[in-house]
Amino acid sequence: MKVKILNWNYLYFFVFFIIAEVVLISALTYIKNSKIEAIESTHTRKLNTQLKVVIDFYSTTSTILIDEILSQEEIKNLLVDINTSDPVKQDIIRNKLLNILQPTYDRLTSHGFRQLHFHDEKGNSFLRFHSVDNYGDNLFNFRATILETNKTKIPQFGFEEGKILNGFRNVFPIIIDKKFYGTVELSNSFDTFSTTLHKNFPLEFKLLITKEYVDSKVFPELIDKYYKPSSISDLFYEEKYTKPLNKKIYITPNNLLFIDNLLKNDIANNLKTKKQFVKSLQVNKKHYIVTFIPVADFNQTINTYVASYIEDDTIFIEERGYYLSLFFSHLIIIIFIMIYILKYYSDEKDKFMRKAYIDTLTKLYSRAKFNNDISKLISIEEENSYSLIIFDIDHFKYVNDTYGHDVGDIVLEEFAHITKETLRENDMIYRWGGEEFIILIKDASSKNSLLTLANKLRVAIEQYNFSYVGHITSSFGIAQGEPQDTKDTLLKRADQNLYKAKQSGRNWSL
Ligand code: GH3
Ligand code: MG
Ligand code: MG
Repeated sequence: MKVKILNWNYLYFFVFFIIAEVVLISALTYIKNSKIEAIESTHTRKLNTQLKVVIDFYSTTSTILIDEILSQEEIKNLLVDINTSDPVKQDIIRNKLLNILQPTYDRLTSHGFRQLHFHDEKGNSFLRFHSVDNYGDNLFNFRATILETNKTKIPQFGFEEGKILNGFRNVFPIIIDKKFYGTVELSNSFDTFSTTLHKNFPLEFKLLITKEYVDSKVFPELIDKYYKPSSISDLFYEEKYTKPLNKKIYITPNNLLFIDNLLKNDIANNLKTKKQFVKSLQVNKKHYIVTFIPVADFNQTINTYVASYIEDDTIFIEERGYYLSLFFSHLIIIIFIMIYILKYYSDEKDKFMRKAYIDTLTKLYSRAKFNNDISKLISIEEENSYSLIIFDIDHFKYVNDTYGHDVGDIVLEEFAHITKETLRENDMIYRWGGEEFIILIKDASSKNSLLTLANKLRVAIEQYNFSYVGHITSSFGIAQGEPQDTKDTLLKRADQNLYKAKQSGRNWSL
């Protein structure tokens, strides 16, 4: 069977499905990406808001506390002299200040504050409560918040690495009776914010600071004390926290480490972008979303990231939904293609069979169709409930010889036409070959009724006035099916009867 594969319809069909698939995949991917982007942006927005609120809360609290401290007469009296050049006097003031404020500082640290630090009018450290032995060093080159407060004489807020510790800085001018004496800072560590947030939201936090930034700012001997290399990136430090014992654990330290190890390679480039980003991953059968937010320092440079970790499977569910819909839509497409191919081949086969089963000249059924039908009939029928009539045009050679082959063809066409007209609609007529034809009758006909039918046709032909040749005759041989018959035995009997009819002088049925 010859099937044309490169049929245009076939091509159109595949172009259509390729386009359909591209559209489908793009649409599904677009929907998935939009949904994931929406989830990611919810996470970044939430974390930004949470941080902003908690930072604002502590800045406001610092403002109130410093206002309270600077309004104490005893402290004012000391601060008006901090710019003295006499080191002995400086020490006395420092010690007095320390004695008065130490209990306050202790209480502040228990509430999450980290640095209480006085600086003189030239930006020199005067008293660090978190490191009382370190003073006298100038901070202008390291601490933009201090420099800015000094210049503007108004409070400055922002994240900054210091010489000892980083912090979310709140720096205030010391102004007593409208005169400027220096600056004072009350700052929080990130830990304060994360602890506050952790109490209210099921999040774990991490502050990542580039090694480069820390190394350029912090006293080298103190780096190890306050920082450890980050488990999430070789370029970053994390702070060493002393976590409160009663702290809730939303994600086990073990799983956090697993998450970091999984993320390590994935986020290396993201961290370089200094933009916010979100990652979703699975660890020990749990799904997590990790949100990274860059934190600009007071100079607007970004060396720090806040990372929040939450157990959340929303992105995973979107991704799974995406792959499921891809899978099922492809399954449907494949089923469609297979149905199409099967239908295409079966249509082609039908077309081919139709061609093979119809005789082109007479438009009667072909010999192939007869063979097919009779085999079916013999295999299905248990009784001999079928019969056949075989008939042949008399002296057809003479027609061909006298009028030519073309006229012979016209006679064959007309012959077929009369045969069809004369027989009942559901009698099956085949061109057996040349000018021989067969009628297949599917019910048990008596010999007489077969002969009647044959004669009816014989007479109709005899009486018909054919184009060019006028009257011609034909001879008929009948055969009734018997249970033991094969196609050949049946045909043979009919053929023998036809032969006898010819022998009997033609234009005869037997
Ligand atoms: P008989 O009465 O014994 O049947 O004599 P006949 O001349 O009809 O003899 P036979 O059946 O053997 O000859 C059949 C002739 O039919 C031979 C062949 O040239 C001719 N023939 C067969 N097929 C076609 C056809 O498709 N077109 C034409 N024009 N002639 C055909
Ligand atoms: Mg013949
Ligand atoms: Mg003949």
